[in-house]
Amino acid sequence: MKIFVCENCSKIEFTNKICSNCESLSLTEKNISDKVKLISFTEVKVGFGKFLNSPPYSLAILQLEQGNKILTKLENQNYKIDDELNFKGLDADSSPIFQIK
Ligand SMILES: [Zn+2]
Repeated sequence: MKIFVCENCSKIEFTNKICSNCESLSLTEKNISDKVKLISFTEVKVGFGKFLNSPPYSLAILQLEQGNKILTKLENQNYKIDDELNFKGLDADSSPIFQIK
């Protein structure tokens, strides 16, 4: 999996365009393992605003193999803590997609 680390604030991005935290344009590309571990998640069943039609989905914290944690959306499936997920690519909004192995 290819990630981009902000040189200013260390935030991890999945595109090399801009840091969503500090708006820096200095991002360094890194290749890391596709395997991630599910640390925590909650199911979202009611939408609002631009996410009105998005539910159901899970909002999850995943741990990357080198230790960084990321917050991301998962398709609703039967997850449990400590599940290993694989990176499958980016969706139309450049958000990462992860699936159970
Ligand atoms: Zn940044």
